[in-house]
Amino acid sequence: MDTVKLVDLVKDKRLPGFTQGEAPSYDDMTRCIHCGLCLNQCPTYRVTGNETESPRGRLYLMRAFAEGRISGQSESLQKHLNQCLQCRACESACPSGVKYGHLVELTSAEVAQQTIQKQSRSEKIIRWLVFRQLFSKPKNLRYFALATRLYQRSSLQKINRAVGFLRLPALSKIGLGKLAELEETMLPPISKPLFEPPEEGKVPALTEQKYRVALFSGCVMSIAFASINEATVRVLTRNYCEVVVPKSLNCCGALHVHNGDREYGKEMAIRNIEVFEESERKFGKFDAIIINAAGCGAMLKEYGELLKADKTMAERAAAFSSKVKDITEFLASIELNRNFGRINRRVTYQDACHLLHGQKIQSPPRSLLKAIPGIELVEMKDSDKCCGSAGIYNVTNSELSMQILDEKMNNVADARPQCIIVANPGCQLQMKLGVKRAGLEKGAGKPIEVAHIIELLDEAYLAAEI
Ligand code: SF4
Ligand code: SF4
Repeated sequence: MDTVKLVDLVKDKRLPGFTQGEAPSYDDMTRCIHCGLCLNQCPTYRVTGNETESPRGRLYLMRAFAEGRISGQSESLQKHLNQCLQCRACESACPSGVKYGHLVELTSAEVAQQTIQKQSRSEKIIRWLVFRQLFSKPKNLRYFALATRLYQRSSLQKINRAVGFLRLPALSKIGLGKLAELEETMLPPISKPLFEPPEEGKVPALTEQKYRVALFSGCVMSIAFASINEATVRVLTRNYCEVVVPKSLNCCGALHVHNGDREYGKEMAIRNIEVFEESERKFGKFDAIIINAAGCGAMLKEYGELLKADKTMAERAAAFSSKVKDITEFLASIELNRNFGRINRRVTYQDACHLLHGQKIQSPPRSLLKAIPGIELVEMKDSDKCCGSAGIYNVTNSELSMQILDEKMNNVADARPQCIIVANPGCQLQMKLGVKRAGLEKGAGKPIEVAHIIELLDEAYLAAEI
């Protein structure tokens, strides 16, 4: 592009690179002042030392694409966007208010649309299966979960791992070479039983009722972390809440939005909003919509932004988002039931990126942990840095992810906790993997456990009743 045209773009505030979908505003795209304050907060920059793997480098590439100076086919653009964890640590560090998460979501969606014809057949099939058939259809996800549980509990998993079916070269040839890694590192043990909403649709408060809340039970949380959802209901009912658990919820849409399928993410959002509106008509107004998975919570809070251009949904989406609260945020905002039993344990807390950087929630989980008698909270170095999980990043970018995780585990080892506390299922799986990789799961009689914060609170309430 010659100088004259670039000058015109600046004058007219146009971003001609966006031709298919929703574009960010020109001011948002050009807000970076290149100060570099975000660089050392960025996990991929810290590991690689490359400017192109930094927020500033990626913003430079995104702007070049937005201004039409490079195309969506650019290998460099695709590679460096793909290697971003979308952890948003750069947003917290930025003095200029760059909305990095928003920009990377819109740019990824635009690039995905412009290059859809170039996707390989296997990539198209996997995306269709995962995004359109599995995570958008709760029934299909449940059938998949039940089949997976059968696989995990029978000898099939052992046989597969011993023989290495998923490592057959034929699978690599059709683009499924990552299946074995996916199965070994990402596939969580499926809960038995799966989490089911109560028959009557709600659970009464255990003592005096002060609040009526709705639980967003989530897709992965319901099939792989059912016990955490059950603990969440118990903790809420012990904190003066009647808990409504709506049925037929869909995935929150984060998976779609973060992987370039923004339009389908909007459909998920609309369906979820309708389910909650229907529940409110049936049970009465909710004081809050509670979520116990940080990644999903950040997405639910963004429904208002996601649907702001939709005339029929904009207001309803904003009303929905305004009620969404992470479970730690909600509990820290009310008069907490402090009828805890004692738990003597040294713990450290790993911030979930989408809680800390996405929702700016830092002190509530810590104040809840400090409220439990006997808990010794030790801060580890860089607890605010990503663990390398980031959705499916540890499969798609496993080498970088493991480098980030190993650095994290050095900090865990230095803090010498008995338990690592997390607030997001992805972090929970990744930290468990890290403990195993570092040999800390049964090291010298001091195994390190990993638990969701709500499990610890639940344990403390139950300890008071023994
Ligand atoms: S979102 Fe995270 S990985 Fe991506 S540029 Fe920002 S700090 Fe780096
Ligand atoms: S801190 Fe903000 S303004 Fe500075 S380089 Fe990073 S993104 Fe740009």
